[in-house]
Amino acid sequence: MSNPKKIQSLRRNFFSYRIYLFPLKMAGYARPDRHPRPGRPSNQDRTMSLVAVGTVAFDDIVTPFSRAERVVGGACTYISLAASYFVKPVRIVSVIGDDFPEETLDYLRAQGVDLEGLQIKAGEKSFFWAGKYDRDLNSRDTLDTQLNVLADFDPVLPEGYRDAEYLMLGNLTPQVQMRVLEQLKSRPKLVALDTMNFWMDTALDDLLKVLKKVDVLTINDEEARQLSGEHSLLKAAQVIRNMGPKYLVIKKGEHGALLFHGDDMFFAPALPLIEVIDPTGAGDTFAGGFAGWLAQSGDLSFDNMKRAVIYGSAMASFCVEKFSIERLKGLTPAVIRDRVQKFADLVHFQI
Ligand code: AMP
Repeated sequence: MSNPKKIQSLRRNFFSYRIYLFPLKMAGYARPDRHPRPGRPSNQDRTMSLVAVGTVAFDDIVTPFSRAERVVGGACTYISLAASYFVKPVRIVSVIGDDFPEETLDYLRAQGVDLEGLQIKAGEKSFFWAGKYDRDLNSRDTLDTQLNVLADFDPVLPEGYRDAEYLMLGNLTPQVQMRVLEQLKSRPKLVALDTMNFWMDTALDDLLKVLKKVDVLTINDEEARQLSGEHSLLKAAQVIRNMGPKYLVIKKGEHGALLFHGDDMFFAPALPLIEVIDPTGAGDTFAGGFAGWLAQSGDLSFDNMKRAVIYGSAMASFCVEKFSIERLKGLTPAVIRDRVQKFADLVHFQI
């Protein structure tokens, strides 16, 4: 390509293509967004519906550096808020007492979270959890779990929820996760499930039953080892995928996350941060970003699952920068995009 005329003509064509396409894009006539940006409505004609299930709770948290008492937490709170940056509405299924702050519910509503499936029990107390982190912030001990309203929670799916295309069964009683599945009119395009050691210890049989019905399981490395009885995460992944889920995400805290499917494996790092204030909710926020991204893009290829893992990791990296859901408030598509770019830069290299 040494002919200067040819180069000039190629350049002209390239620039004129961009100039002509720009107004078309502005008017919404450009080719469909295969991978739309967070928060922007996709220009493809499809309805995306995400139902998120999990606890809406109060937490007491102790870290080696500080503590927070009775702050807003719960798997469903984190999942729905994270997912709301990708898809609206996020329809939640959960239960609280009448002690839960109205401002938080208003904030979630304003974010596009549909609270029709949130039961509010008069005179009862919301789920409460207390945890204490070790020095490295990677492991924690549960100090207290008070099921309160969750103890006899019977989820009732509002009519508008029953044809959900994407379902994120966040951490709570496996029986409740199953009850939600049973009320759907048809099988969603994707069912993802998150759980924790508490349910492996107290309701393993029910957990194994619901696992048979899900596509994706997200758990942390310690839980993967407990569930499978294997120390090697590769062996654990094999054992767990034989329990039902075709896809498995193993979260490894500040050491990132692994995605398994068939013979494929993908690793996403966690973003090194100057300060981690509180890791609580990082796993749920990951799940919300992951499911939200998939629901928004409607693409369940392994390549897009990888992207979903990165978006989930990016959302989790915000979560840990403050206590409770504070850092997840007021994000913008540009800020999320910028964070995702940092992940891309972090692992980009050539061989
Ligand atoms: P994560 O740090 O992502 O594992 O999630 C922590 C959140 O999960 C906290 O906000 C708790 O309220 C909630 N949580 C703790 N224990 C349980 C449990 N056994 N079932 C459901 N949610 C829980």
